Amino acid sequence: MYMTSTERMKDKIETFSGFGDTGHGGITRFSLSPEALAARKEWVRRCEALGMKVFSDDMANLYAVLEGSDPSLPAIYSGSHCDSVRQGGNYDGILGVLSALEVAETIVRENIPHKHNYVCMIWTNEEGADYEPAMMSSGVVCHKFDKDKMLASVSHSTGRTFGEALAESGYVGSEANRIGSDKCAALLELHIEQGPVLEAEKKDIGVVEGVCGMINYEFTFVGQADHAGTTPMKYRKDALYAACKVIQYLHDEFDKLDKKLVYTTGKISCHPNIHTIIPDLVKFTLDARHQDPAVVQQCIDIIKKIPSEVEKCAFSYEEAWSRATVAFHKPYVDFVEESAKELGYPSMRMYSGPGHDAQFAADIVPTTMIFVPSDGGHSHCELEHTPVENCKKGADVLLNTVLKIDAAI
Ligand SMILES: [Zn+2]
Repeated sequence: MYMTSTERMKDKIETFSGFGDTGHGGITRFSLSPEALAARKEWVRRCEALGMKVFSDDMANLYAVLEGSDPSLPAIYSGSHCDSVRQGGNYDGILGVLSALEVAETIVRENIPHKHNYVCMIWTNEEGADYEPAMMSSGVVCHKFDKDKMLASVSHSTGRTFGEALAESGYVGSEANRIGSDKCAALLELHIEQGPVLEAEKKDIGVVEGVCGMINYEFTFVGQADHAGTTPMKYRKDALYAACKVIQYLHDEFDKLDKKLVYTTGKISCHPNIHTIIPDLVKFTLDARHQDPAVVQQCIDIIKKIPSEVEKCAFSYEEAWSRATVAFHKPYVDFVEESAKELGYPSMRMYSGPGHDAQFAADIVPTTMIFVPSDGGHSHCELEHTPVENCKKGADVLLNTVLKIDAAI
């Protein structure tokens, strides 16, 4: 078994933690910001120092090629994103970028033979924290999003459009350089779990089988605004009370379904939101996720059973958006599991709740992911942390999975 280096992983993580450092353990590194461009520059420098050829596509996704003994074969790609949310952590996305780079460095330093080209990647604007939406560039490359609409996306922080920032970045390349089924035999993305399961189960490696399907609904309740002091209870049409009843109903019913189901009401609005007035318009959202489409359908069936009138208030709902469960490429999922086993790292199979660029890529190229544990399950915050020993184990699994694929195809 080949091994990556803990020392080198530590150096990479520490160096990149400096780009957008908030000063209290995390980073703010919006896509195409000066901090993100500095991180890219350092990544390019390191890739070129390893003898890799670096280029970009029209969405400024970056690719660095380590040539194999038969460059005519489709390549094995690995990478993630280097942008963050506001006051995010030093592991989300960037760990996948740095692990992929560490794999290249190990191959070069140890002269490990490989037939296929190995390509390290950085996806542009995965978080969508400054320019919405999330997974913007993988969305364009994988034909999920309209490119012109994405270029028109306006920054929350600077007011510039994404297209303007892209042009100024100096990283716009040719559309012909995009990752695609003709030139890519595999895409591997290592990522932190962003949840508490691996840590709780004492596993070093998450063998990711796919990404959970999800639904996002918005519920609306229309009542009657009246005086809080004069309207007897029995005459009221209180939209907030009706909404509370439905939230309770959804919890009661969803809790009877499979225990892996997760669901959240994260947003609620109440009109007129004045303490002396009975609410007449209340909306709330429901996000529900599960790997099995049948369970997601059970959620929808439960929602459909809600009557059109609740506590004398008119009830309606609509689907805001949804995504189908994404299954990763099974032979590669198995390679990840075998690699972990051979390295002696405890692993478990799991699905991703969050979305990742790999989920879009799975539509066009054979794809899979590797998870490493997140301390306390924390992510998208400055507390986000994965011990470097765990990061190195993830990189080891990535390296050996790349070599298994190289040998198998
Ligand atoms: Zn991420």
